[in-house]
Amino acid sequence: RLVSREYKAEDTVIRLGDVVIGGTAKVFIAGPCAVESREQLLTTARLVRQGGAQILRGGAFKPRTSPYDFQGLAEKGLEYMAEARALTGLKIVTEVLEPDAVPVVAQYADLLQVGARNMQNFSLLKAVGRSQKPVVLKRGLAATMDEWLQAAEYILYEGNQQVVFCERGIRTFATHSRNTLDMSVIPALKQASHLPVIVDPSHATGRRDLVAPMSLAGLAAGADGIMIEMHPNPEIALCDGPQSLYPQEYFLLMQELRALSGFL
Ligand code: PEP
Ligand code: MN
Repeated sequence: RLVSREYKAEDTVIRLGDVVIGGTAKVFIAGPCAVESREQLLTTARLVRQGGAQILRGGAFKPRTSPYDFQGLAEKGLEYMAEARALTGLKIVTEVLEPDAVPVVAQYADLLQVGARNMQNFSLLKAVGRSQKPVVLKRGLAATMDEWLQAAEYILYEGNQQVVFCERGIRTFATHSRNTLDMSVIPALKQASHLPVIVDPSHATGRRDLVAPMSLAGLAAGADGIMIEMHPNPEIALCDGPQSLYPQEYFLLMQELRALSGFL
């Protein structure tokens, strides 16, 4: 299999200009769950830059559990993401929900995100596989490591070798957190595959008070990076407020993550 260490022994390293994902580098991605408005996004992007992350996250097309929830600003949101990149120099990652939307999202984004709910949307996997843009492939809500590897295989098989795994927690019997962050899958994946692995402690826990410890644990477990939700005012966030860090919490966490990176 193309994703395996047997096929390719050395780590895959993805380069977006001066931002490196994989190998000895650590990458930090932060931003709101959703692009809510131009002002919200540009404010957040400046804070993300200030804290030291290299990539801005933000959904323009949101996969919401309820059809009555905020669905995202669609292409307008992509425009604001591109504007935030121009303003700050950050790279941008945003989710693509369907195969037909891959070309337009790829026009704006530096990285395409395939969300947890779409991990086995095989037509979407093929479509991002035909794109030239690197892909962040989130783990399905109840996917085994092998199913996740096979999903990545679809993308590589189509010719796109640039895939980043993102562990975002899986559904378990636990009720204290939104999902359960599967820490042991990080070293297991790194052993099985040459592709980079990042951790999303925000969706994994659903609780901002758990985001910092799980971010540090993720790096310690060998992750190549961390993706964090942060909002200038989580109390009024249209999406995932309870798990979004306040800017001050984000600044502090970034200091801790940088310090820990120095030891690793
Ligand atoms: C997201 O990162 O915006 C998101 C929707 O996450 P997930 O697909 O992991 O639920
Ligand atoms: Mn979210």
